[in-house]
Amino acid sequence: MSSAVTTQVTDLQNYVNGAWRRSAATEYFDVTNPATAKLLARTPLSTSADVDAAVQAAADAFPAWRRTPPGERVQYLFKLKNLLEENLDDLARVITLENGKTFAEARAELRRAIENVEVACGIPMMMQGYNLEDVTPGVDEMQIRQPLGVVAAIVPFNFPAMVSYWFLPYAIACGNSFILKPSERVPLSMHRAFELLEKTGLPKGVVNLVNGGKEVVNALCDHPQVRAISFVGSTPVAKHVYSRSAASGKRMQCQGGAKNHVIVLPDADMELATQIISDSAFGCAGQRCLAVSVAVTIGEAQKTFRDCIAHAASSIRVGNGLDAGVQMGPVITRESKQRIESLISAGVGEGAKPILDGRNTKIPKYESGNFLTPTVLDGLPTNSQLANTEIFGPVLSLIHANSIDEAMEFLRRSPYGNQASLFTTSGSAARKFRYEAPAGNIGINIGVAAPMAYFPFSGWKESFFGILHGQGRDAVEFFTECKIVIERWSRQETRKF
Ligand code: NAD
Repeated sequence: MSSAVTTQVTDLQNYVNGAWRRSAATEYFDVTNPATAKLLARTPLSTSADVDAAVQAAADAFPAWRRTPPGERVQYLFKLKNLLEENLDDLARVITLENGKTFAEARAELRRAIENVEVACGIPMMMQGYNLEDVTPGVDEMQIRQPLGVVAAIVPFNFPAMVSYWFLPYAIACGNSFILKPSERVPLSMHRAFELLEKTGLPKGVVNLVNGGKEVVNALCDHPQVRAISFVGSTPVAKHVYSRSAASGKRMQCQGGAKNHVIVLPDADMELATQIISDSAFGCAGQRCLAVSVAVTIGEAQKTFRDCIAHAASSIRVGNGLDAGVQMGPVITRESKQRIESLISAGVGEGAKPILDGRNTKIPKYESGNFLTPTVLDGLPTNSQLANTEIFGPVLSLIHANSIDEAMEFLRRSPYGNQASLFTTSGSAARKFRYEAPAGNIGINIGVAAPMAYFPFSGWKESFFGILHGQGRDAVEFFTECKIVIERWSRQETRKF
């Protein structure tokens, strides 16, 4: 395992211009294991001078990197894919240690990360433009794609490895140089990933890592040489980053928070629906931007689904994600646990009935961990504040509606639009839902509608600010600028030959 997590407690470094460097930080953020409260490392809260140094290194690397043929650029990604495969269990362990999710969930996260590396290996095909001869006699026109220059990504705590890979492989394969700012709460996974990137032999300055918090984010937003920023995190910060970066003329894609609904029709396969919705709501302790957090039942599904989900949720084994048989880990911090508990109390105050109550959970041997057990709130009033508040914890609220149209009305009123799902065996209900649901990622009998790497990760309303999303073809468009060339050559030139 990485030196960063085997030694006692390490003050992490930044990776700039192909070397590990101490940050100019005077303040550090403690990184603790959410299951044990044990201190793992300290994240330097780097300064704007650290950002300047990284941008300079990336800018210096850019001219040679963009001239490196795409077919050569992706060779580094093939190496990275192999290194990630070889180190999968080691990396998964680091994810579980710092984030708390189970080892199996951490492995699944890494598979998604690797998938993005694989897709970006197709850049020599994906980055191609198009052309047309004789737009007027003897004149040809073409569209070509060129990299932007220095680009950056700012990522959240809940997928310490995967989210960075929505951007990094595409950005560098397209010929950009790249700066990553991981979440200060979970910096170890990307520290380890950068040790592997170093082993690929990438030219110095092509990828850079700057640890930190707000100051790094704001310095990246303001920096005139940073051409584009990819952000993933909560909606208030997404809005802040979007508007602050726009002020300096950057290209932006900012993914925000979520409150995802699932509609359960009475004709659904209730056993399948229950299992899948339970996994969606409580997997990763509900800390997934695609976690279902409100189930809207129609007709007699109200009773059948309520009974089934309460049974499924109560049988989930909660504990340290590294222990065998554990199905749900802790939430990220003590503050997060307290915030979730107070939101559950607020929901109860607003009229919901807790049919499973995960507050005040203590797990034997892990009394200092940030544990909750799955919570199910029945009958949350649709006009309650909690109905539209992102909880980001293992809490599922149940709402009842008399028809699919009434249920769709709740979805329309939601400020978020990350994901919406429907469980049914009716094709026409499914089609209506796909057509009308106001969200960017749609699941039909799917609980976590996470797009594969070759499709963009969508998101609507307050869940996304920008036009081009992460992953797939959108990523190629986001990380390249399109140039139109119209060409005429004199016929006299040709006559010489
Ligand atoms: P967060 O917004 O607190 O932090 C995200 C990033 O922004 C971090 O790198 C952090 O250092 C930085 N940051 C935090 N506060 C800041 C501030 N005031 N000014 C400048 N930078 C700041 O998010 P989080 O708690 O790490 O992650 C959870 C959130 O991310 C949830 O809302 C979740 O829904 C969302 N999320 C969304 C998606 C998506 O695809 N839409 C995916 C994953 C997570």
